[in-house]
Amino acid sequence: MKNVLIIGSTGQIGSELTMKLRSIYNGNIVAGYIPGAEPKGELKESGPSAIVDITNEQQIAETVSKYNIDTIYNLAALLSAVAEAKPQLAWKIGMGGLFNVLEVAREMGCAVFTPSSIGVFGNNTPKDKIRNPRTMYGVTKVSGELLSDYYHIRFGVDTRSVRFPGLISYVTPPGGGTTDYAVDIYYSAVKGEKFECPIAAGTFMDMMYMPDGLRAAIEIMEANPDKLIHRNSFNIASMSFDPEIIYNNIKKYMPDFHMEYKVDPLRQAIAESWPNSLDDTCAREEWGWKPEYDLDSMTQDMLAKLKIRFNK
Ligand code: NAD
Repeated sequence: MKNVLIIGSTGQIGSELTMKLRSIYNGNIVAGYIPGAEPKGELKESGPSAIVDITNEQQIAETVSKYNIDTIYNLAALLSAVAEAKPQLAWKIGMGGLFNVLEVAREMGCAVFTPSSIGVFGNNTPKDKIRNPRTMYGVTKVSGELLSDYYHIRFGVDTRSVRFPGLISYVTPPGGGTTDYAVDIYYSAVKGEKFECPIAAGTFMDMMYMPDGLRAAIEIMEANPDKLIHRNSFNIASMSFDPEIIYNNIKKYMPDFHMEYKVDPLRQAIAESWPNSLDDTCAREEWGWKPEYDLDSMTQDMLAKLKIRFNK
């Protein structure tokens, strides 16, 4: 049995992760949310929820105490494109919020999962895969990895995380990241609309189908701690493509689909600063990470699920 608090439970990852955790654990799986982003439908009906603003340490502590929480999934963040527009708020949520979570975890004995991102890699070293970001999103992610490691080494808090690539899902739309186009393209294809791609041809980024991402978030928290040489944060990978490759893959199943480029300079600059692909050897060796989906199997599943959703 596990009692889990998911902070940011109504976002792209949280809305699915919360349901998945409720399907595998018997305990209190609490959907934390902020006013204006309340849980709805199945997410609301299937278990407890609580207002938990990550910038409010007392609110986190009260919820942890009330539901006897042993594990916190910290998913609150501003994603890369949004964080560039609101860097101060991105820091307040990403770092101030993480500090609050780690302090509560230290005092109340919780394990903590805080996703990092391919955004930790940066501008002047794109191909070398060195942590050196030039975005506020990346700065909070690198700092978050370091702070989480510090809490593990200094206080013994059970902190763990993975660097998610762009996550692709048919359930909840993404929240303003650089890889969102790889979700939007499927929606346009199924709706029969032309797709305007904000990322230029030839720009490769790491991506992952949501079921693999959710499994990674759960498997790393269940991994035997004796086997973990690293904690924060593991690269995990399953596929890397540019807009042309995903477009042509979709066209295999929907030959009439059409894409044009309308490159967004902000997103393009961020995309170019990220690596083309990641080495996930450590995750494979230390906790048995293995993806199940590649681009083609993801495309088939995305198109099938979205066709049901849009009655096509
Ligand atoms: P999202 O933007 O869809 O959701 C973020 C959630 O945080 C929302 O529910 C929002 O209401 C909540 N939130 C905002 N401010 C808050 C606050 N002050 N207190 C509590 N909650 C607050 O993001 P997501 O895609 O679900 O991402 C979750 C985590 O995974 C983030 O740390 C993100 O950086 C990371 N990540 C996501 C991806 C991806 O492709 N989705 C890739 C890499 C890393």
